[in-house]
Amino acid sequence: MSNHPLRTMRPPSYGRSARLCRLAAALLAMAFYFVPRLAVAQTHEFQVEHQHTLRDCRGTLIITPDTIDYRTTHKKDSRSWPYVEIRQLKVESSTRLEIVTYEDQKRMLGRDKIFKFRLLQGQLRPDVVALLMAKSTHPPATSVMPVASGTPAFQIPVKHLHTLGGCEGLLSIYPDRVTYESKDKPTDSRYWRYADIHNFGHPTRYRFEITTFEDKYGGPTKVFNFQLKEDLPARAHDYVWVRVYPSEFYPNERPTSPTDFPPTDLPLVPR
Ligand SMILES: [Zn+2]
Ligand SMILES: [Zn+2]
Repeated sequence: MSNHPLRTMRPPSYGRSARLCRLAAALLAMAFYFVPRLAVAQTHEFQVEHQHTLRDCRGTLIITPDTIDYRTTHKKDSRSWPYVEIRQLKVESSTRLEIVTYEDQKRMLGRDKIFKFRLLQGQLRPDVVALLMAKSTHPPATSVMPVASGTPAFQIPVKHLHTLGGCEGLLSIYPDRVTYESKDKPTDSRYWRYADIHNFGHPTRYRFEITTFEDKYGGPTKVFNFQLKEDLPARAHDYVWVRVYPSEFYPNERPTSPTDFPPTDLPLVPR
């Protein structure tokens, strides 16, 4: 480092300022080189198949921080959705994405139109999922974990109960999220920020339920029932409670995005 030209102890000279100019020019050039590359890095393109009841169409799905576009020669299916026009995003798996729109489907008594895409190449990687989660205006549902950091405060092996049987995995409670990861049935894995949880319950010692905002056709939103294989520490319930139900009674607990409330100065009142 001591041999660096800018570190030498010579008095300022023309030569030094010329070097500084060259350095500044080089930095500027680097900035111009990297900024557009970062913008490009935020655009993800995939060759996809749009699933129809009869004949699927194919095209390109383009995910950017502003819109999700589907470009296809099957003109009537071409779309460009700003995130606010998407009622729900579902990352079914790393190769399947479902977009629930606000478009009425006349033949289906006005039921919202759902676009189901299957990637023909590539995968919905954790960074793409993180972008989708950050931009969704309605809680998304994802079985692919986005990029995230931190260590869980509580972790417990569970069985996710289905109508018949179930799948097994690990339930993890983090300061900003709850995840369920199943190797058994990866498409049942989920990642919920606290704002993505509608309701939760710990009705009996070995049960834990999470009511989501995830659509379930013909009924209320989807509930995940977990059978706990071990005791969940008693304070885990309160830990989740103050995060799912942010309130002025708990001024010190910060809820997570997207529904953020400013902390207040109200005193702590026992419930
Ligand atoms: Zn189509
Ligand atoms: Zn399951």
